[in-house]
Amino acid sequence: MIPINIDSLYSQIFHNAVVAIGVTDPQGTYITVNPTWCELLGYSAEEAIKLNINDVTPEEDRSNSITSFEYLTSKKGNSIRKQRRYQRKDGSIFWADLHASPLYDKDDNVIGLLGVFVNIDKQLHAEQVQKELMNNMEEVNRKLNLANEDLKKLSRHDALTGLYNRRVLEDILEKESNRSQRTKRGFGIAIADIDNFKHVNDTYGHDCGDMVLKELAKVFLKGIRSTDAMGRWGGEEFLFIFPETTCQGAMIVIERIRKKVESLTLEYNGLPIKVSTTIGLSYHHGDTESAVMITEADTALYRGKRSGKNQVICYQDSCTDSE
Ligand code: GH3
Ligand code: MG
Ligand code: MG
Repeated sequence: MIPINIDSLYSQIFHNAVVAIGVTDPQGTYITVNPTWCELLGYSAEEAIKLNINDVTPEEDRSNSITSFEYLTSKKGNSIRKQRRYQRKDGSIFWADLHASPLYDKDDNVIGLLGVFVNIDKQLHAEQVQKELMNNMEEVNRKLNLANEDLKKLSRHDALTGLYNRRVLEDILEKESNRSQRTKRGFGIAIADIDNFKHVNDTYGHDCGDMVLKELAKVFLKGIRSTDAMGRWGGEEFLFIFPETTCQGAMIVIERIRKKVESLTLEYNGLPIKVSTTIGLSYHHGDTESAVMITEADTALYRGKRSGKNQVICYQDSCTDSE
């Protein structure tokens, strides 16, 4: 075995270490520094031994540095590890992860301080970037969720009136129709169409027409029971769905709504606007498909239009007779 010269070994460790090593006396003046220290701080080894620890500490950090220094030289503690800043010869500053510990003579007197550190600027920068990315991601996620909610609402609701759109109504209709076919319980639907709506648009403008649609939507929504459903079926047509009800029950609700529209005086640019609706109803006990009910309600509506408008017509004569 080749004999090892321990002093030479220590010297090589000191000179080749990838960490910066600096040793100061108890007053903080450098006694020796290794090449990595020189490389990081920008001073030569000769320059370094003329420096005090304060010379490589940014001014605003010095009181902190002195406290740590005194903590070690007064033997209160055996070592400290902390992140602290160093100032290079050119004035630039970097963050370092420092391990510092006192050095003792054989009588246990503190003769200096050993500081070993690595530059952690890149690590801190990466952490900062990661934090910003995380924050951005949270923000993006939050916006995405909001956009998704909007999208969900948009896909289910009519943009002008806020009511269910035709797609949703078709789904509800299908569900209720299936249920009615299964249970044979009564189920009614109604289509309401605004009378002479083209005249409203032509006379007062499209914006006035929109206002009328929005106001009537409120009246319709207010007029139904919590178990009923309604929405915008198309242009100026609205569909009502009355599950689990009698034909007379549906008639009463829809007639009340018709009367409410008739009695309403809307206002546009200071002008009074009067409108009315014609409504066609179809009622079954689970003996037919929803598409047939729609056709019947349409036929009843058409009859109502032809015979004077502003009225409710039920396709099933027996229901109208009982009213
Ligand atoms: P009727 O009494 O026979 O129902 O006559 P009408 O004038 O109401 O019927 P018509 O089908 O001739 O006209 C319906 C009008 O509704 C035509 C269309 O421009 C208008 N309309 C449809 N959707 C909208 C809308 O979203 N906003 C406005 N302002 N008008 C609409
Ligand atoms: Mg129409
Ligand atoms: Mg109309």
